[in-house]
Amino acid sequence: MAKVETNLIHQGKEFNETKSVVTPIFQTATYFASDDLDEYIKAATETKFPEFYHRHGNPTNSQVASVVADLEKTEDALVLATGMAAISAAILSVVKAGDHIVAQHAHYSGAKLFFNEFLINYGITISFVDQVDNESFEKAIQKNTKLIYIETPSNPNLELTDLEFIGKLGKEKAIITMVDNTFASPINQNPADFGIDVIVHSATKYLGGHSDLTAGIVCGTKDFIHKVWRKSLVLGASLSPFDSWLLLRGLRTLSLRVRQINENALQFATWLEQQAFVKSVIYVGLPSHPQHSLAQKQMKGFTGMICIELAGSENEGFEKAQSILKNLKIFANAASLGGVESLIVHPASMWGSHHSAQQKQISGITKGMLRISIGIEHIDDLIGDFEQAVSS
Ligand SMILES: *Cc1c(COP(=O)(O)O)cnc(C)c1O
Repeated sequence: MAKVETNLIHQGKEFNETKSVVTPIFQTATYFASDDLDEYIKAATETKFPEFYHRHGNPTNSQVASVVADLEKTEDALVLATGMAAISAAILSVVKAGDHIVAQHAHYSGAKLFFNEFLINYGITISFVDQVDNESFEKAIQKNTKLIYIETPSNPNLELTDLEFIGKLGKEKAIITMVDNTFASPINQNPADFGIDVIVHSATKYLGGHSDLTAGIVCGTKDFIHKVWRKSLVLGASLSPFDSWLLLRGLRTLSLRVRQINENALQFATWLEQQAFVKSVIYVGLPSHPQHSLAQKQMKGFTGMICIELAGSENEGFEKAQSILKNLKIFANAASLGGVESLIVHPASMWGSHHSAQQKQISGITKGMLRISIGIEHIDDLIGDFEQAVSS
């Protein structure tokens, strides 16, 4: 088997039956069906059949799925229209009324809303535990627990969940384990290596990498992907042919981008740690991160996600955060992450409407906090931009 860099370029080429070197955009809702009714039945019912009707499959989606399944070392994958489409379809493929989920206090805000405002209305119960405490997962397991749902590093304070522990726990108790691997990207972390069953991604972030599309991916066994595909047929969040083509194009450079982002982020975090305006820097690649040794064990690179707490009282930090955001010229104050451009957000404002004050406290979000997604610009320019924003 070829290496990751090569597979990013060539994996799944068989889904392009044309002679074009670049997989075309199959901009069609439907395909000529066979007159042979046996073949027609196969096309209409086979999982992800790429040329029947768009909600069933699309050749570019099949190629993207093949590339990402290869990256995540799983048998199969399914591409959907957004990360939340992937997360919701994957979770709904595991649990039904009467079941219980063990999840973390800190999750992507959309996933938390899905738990707290959707699943609980359908007879599913959820226990939220502290992700840095392995035992808390074990203690929360009930007779009807069907899923352990984790996210590592988590949003926004970059805490880690022990993948090997969760993988083993799931196997031991016959509970499906699922991880949101968006923040790490498959270049930096492969949860399947630690026995995690299902991996979900917001491909809007590192996988697409250019902040020009939304997409989501579920990776797992063939059987599991079949279940998710069946759910997706009725939930209906198919990724459009053009966005799929953009995603495939983005994936070509994933390893280059992520390597550069890892390098920039480590330099940037190291620089931040020496600055007086910063009270603390949270970056999994720094020895000061409380779980740095776990990061070294389960990650191959440390991502572009950095969280800082500004110096002074929380209110002083809040004022400084506002002035930094106002004065930055290269960093854009924008939601999302994982693109080629550096972005920055004020988590306490971004999640103001989703999280209660208590939830923010449990998730560790303070008003003097900024979350940074480092891009591939030159590191000197990124540091220079922050220097001028802090002093102006
Ligand atoms: C953005 C994000 C999602 C949701 O993805 P969408 O593509 O916006 O639906 C899920 N998990 C994490 C960690 C994210 O950053």
